[in-house]
Amino acid sequence: MAVERIVDARGSSDDGDMPDEQQKFENTLRPQRLSEYIGQESLKTSLQLAIDAAKQRNEPIDHVLLFGPPGLGKTTLAGVIANEMAANTKKKGEEQKPNFKVASGPGISRPGDLASVLTSLQDGDVLFIDEIHRLSRQVEETLYSAMEDYVIDIMIGKGPAVRSVRLSLPRFTLIGATTRAGALANPLRDRFGLVYRLEYYSEPHIKEIITRSSRILDLTITDEAATMLSSRARLTPRIANRLLKRVRDYAELNNNGKIDVAIAEQSLELLQIDRLGLDIADRSLLRTILDHYGERPVGIKTLAALTGDEASTIEDYYEPYLMQIGFLERTPRGRVVTGRAKKHLG
Ligand code: ADP
Repeated sequence: MAVERIVDARGSSDDGDMPDEQQKFENTLRPQRLSEYIGQESLKTSLQLAIDAAKQRNEPIDHVLLFGPPGLGKTTLAGVIANEMAANTKKKGEEQKPNFKVASGPGISRPGDLASVLTSLQDGDVLFIDEIHRLSRQVEETLYSAMEDYVIDIMIGKGPAVRSVRLSLPRFTLIGATTRAGALANPLRDRFGLVYRLEYYSEPHIKEIITRSSRILDLTITDEAATMLSSRARLTPRIANRLLKRVRDYAELNNNGKIDVAIAEQSLELLQIDRLGLDIADRSLLRTILDHYGERPVGIKTLAALTGDEASTIEDYYEPYLMQIGFLERTPRGRVVTGRAKKHLG
């Protein structure tokens, strides 16, 4: 697909890939406590119960698996859980602040890497592993005993001198995040006591996020503009915040920083984001399928070859929202563009 990624709004789930400035921007806007975390109501209710119960037992919260498309707030929620567990917890008369460590599946390539992360933890710490479905089999297997019994066996030495050493670990909580629950091996999945799926947000919740972010960034935005932006943000907080950032920049240059609906409209037009929040890349993906296959199904590998994208990029970044709005269907024989999408594209 000859597509220029003009819109960085889609972003990546891998924080390691993010430029510093973007990362800083996101961190400024991350809710710290559950009460600030907008939307995901049933998840929050269940999580609050689990947090309260764990605190009452004076134990770390069970391991948590979060799954859902990129940008819906998995990393943020992991940090929130760590903060909630830390709040009002006193140990040896001191206010405790459990550590929150962030790692990513592809970043932990060998069991030794995992061992050094795990042994650096303390009781009650939270370890967040993003893209946990990308851990190697060996590392994943090492994780089993760590999660279940708080021990790991590591091999030391080489050749005939090799021996296995058992290390005991602190009682930590693992929070794993994945865009695809199906990609996780069953034995790993079964070791999470709490499994939550993050849903796309409603437009009113996205609007709340935009309003909250505008407050934090000290922006002037009209209610109408916030409503308009929330309808173009693909029901995703990360995209909402990034659109806000792009519109802010445009407003600073063209309207003394004031974001009204006309300014928002103009900047989205420049970004070529349509009224459903689709960008050039989305539309191009749909058109490619229509041009080559019409309404017949196309397999993911063929599609990736046609567009020049990785199959996983299509699966993680494009498909979920296109399926959510009924533009794309996944059938046993491949992906099919719906009549609705055809109508939208004209
Ligand atoms: P993920 O880990 O699922 O890719 P993140 O947790 O990094 O997503 O969230 C992306 C951004 O969206 C964060 O910077 C955060 O400010 C914002 N965000 C996510 N979820 C919420 C929420 N429920 N309420 C407010 N802001 C949110």
